[in-house]
Amino acid sequence: MLNKYKHIIWDWNGTLLDDTVFCVGIMNGMLTRRKLKNISVNHYKNIFTFPVRTYYAKVGLQVDDDQFVLLSKEFIYEYELNKLNCRLFDGVEEVLQSVAACGLSQSILSAYSQNNLNEIVKHFNLTKYFNGIKGLDNIYAGSKVEIGRQWIEELGLKKNEVILIGDTLHDKEVADKIGADCILIANGHQAKLVLQASGVQTFNSLSELKLLNSF
Ligand SMILES: [Mg+2]
Repeated sequence: MLNKYKHIIWDWNGTLLDDTVFCVGIMNGMLTRRKLKNISVNHYKNIFTFPVRTYYAKVGLQVDDDQFVLLSKEFIYEYELNKLNCRLFDGVEEVLQSVAACGLSQSILSAYSQNNLNEIVKHFNLTKYFNGIKGLDNIYAGSKVEIGRQWIEELGLKKNEVILIGDTLHDKEVADKIGADCILIANGHQAKLVLQASGVQTFNSLSELKLLNSF
């Protein structure tokens, strides 16, 4: 199925990096400090969205401009402090290796900030698999549509030669806007039912995707 493509654009958080439970923990710390009700992982997966400002509002946080800047800094401070305790999903390196062996090039397109993204991909020793690692120039996890547009132009491939693999509806939105195909993996930041509502092909895990593609 993936063999018909020339390039895979991977999302990072929740697709290659298993950081969902970690992110829920950080949010619950922020909520506790404000005497707000904590959220479960299941609830999180049903309400998480991009831009994250919308999700922050859904959990009861004040998100006017000044507050949102402070909240973003607080979240990222905690995230950066302990991010290396997160693991890659099972089989990530194996999948990247197999895809490369099939002759496809690969990149990362993330709403995570560029420097931190470079650093963590390097930490996991994965940099060598990608001909592009594209993040945002800020910490506010807004939209990655623009960098996606720039990146697909830079790639110089025909649109039907590229597939984006992610874990959220924002990945599907980005794929649609840049003209790439898309598949989603329901093992990250949004629930399977939320993803399936978009009509996009959805897998339960990277391992399942690998199995079905017999890499
Ligand atoms: Mg993601």
